[in-house]
Amino acid sequence: MPKNSDKNSGLNLGFNLKFNELYELDGLAKIDAAFLDFLSEQNSDLTDQLKAGRVNKPDDKVESQILIDAGPHLENFLSKLFGIENQIDGLNECHHALRPFFDFKRTFVQRKAFKAVTPEKAAQIDGEELSQKLQSLFGHRFQETKDELIFVEKVSAWLEEPEAQSEAIEVALNYAGWALRTPEGRAKHQGGDLFKMPGKLDFERLVPAEMDLTSEYAVHKLPEQRLHRRAGFKLTDSGKDLKGALSEAHYCIYCHNQGKDSCAKGLLSNPKEEESDFANSPFGVPLTGCPLGVRISEMNILKAQGSALGALAALVIENPMTAGTGHRICNECMKSCVYQKQDPVNIPEIETRILKDVLALPFGFEIYSLLTRWNPLNLARPLPKAPTGFRVLVAGMGPSGYT
Ligand code: SF4
Repeated sequence: MPKNSDKNSGLNLGFNLKFNELYELDGLAKIDAAFLDFLSEQNSDLTDQLKAGRVNKPDDKVESQILIDAGPHLENFLSKLFGIENQIDGLNECHHALRPFFDFKRTFVQRKAFKAVTPEKAAQIDGEELSQKLQSLFGHRFQETKDELIFVEKVSAWLEEPEAQSEAIEVALNYAGWALRTPEGRAKHQGGDLFKMPGKLDFERLVPAEMDLTSEYAVHKLPEQRLHRRAGFKLTDSGKDLKGALSEAHYCIYCHNQGKDSCAKGLLSNPKEEESDFANSPFGVPLTGCPLGVRISEMNILKAQGSALGALAALVIENPMTAGTGHRICNECMKSCVYQKQDPVNIPEIETRILKDVLALPFGFEIYSLLTRWNPLNLARPLPKAPTGFRVLVAGMGPSGYT
């Protein structure tokens, strides 16, 4: 048991389990049995499928569905095990409260406004004037990206009475079109999540560098607002917040349903062939997908549905060292995303947010650590194997050396 868990070792957990049992093989077996009992009270068919899946690997789609169905039950079980039901309810609520935001973004902003306001029309719009008008219509400040939620709330209410509010809706529509289509609008809402369309990928210019020709030689540099100043060894960016990560999770189209989750399995050059090679990127790099085969599509759907612990459980099946990966390390998954011509889903940001949301909970570390030893979503190995008695030294550069 880790030293920092000593003070908790006598703690009673839910289901008549003890804290120290989280760190013992017999204890983990008891936790597993308690979970299966709990699950069978909630859904006996799912329990049977899960148990059968442990004996005979189901086909990929069936396995994915078992994980997605079992994830929320696992979350409920863990919340009772650690006595954090209120905190989990609060975290779920944060996810669910954002649902209308993403529905509105898809229907009003990305479909209606983008279609209604052409680039030519957008260029004629005075965005700041409309912003002032909206501010007085809202009766609320509408200046910063954090005010996006007010836009969603008020305009959604107007859309309930389209005839009575037609003028106000027109103002909102034009403002959204301006924010999406013009450089000024995009710059103003750069830090937000609402007024965004997936960008077209330009492989010759993946990093939007600027060229400074004021000296004798060309200097390529990032725009000022994208610079991260390094002072010491602290992280230079905080990653996406929940809204930003959920924005990515809702952008995902959950390709496991078609068996085409190339982010996890790699993008094939000829999917109809049984033994197809991987497709190459425009730079000639094979698009092999996540080197660990993380169940990204299942993880994304669980996060988008608001199951924070279920999403983490799906993630750590293949990547128990997720604390060292996420948006600060490789992005093979993004490069192999089915979106090859437009911005891919920012999977590493979702991954990082999933872990941070769990670590912020009481017993967050213990939950993460437990799922790396016992994970009922891992049908192939829900429990650790018995110790062999051997000691193994793993050495290497980069992430390979610390697993
Ligand atoms: S991340 Fe991309 S490839 Fe993976 S499931 Fe989502 S949309 Fe599909």
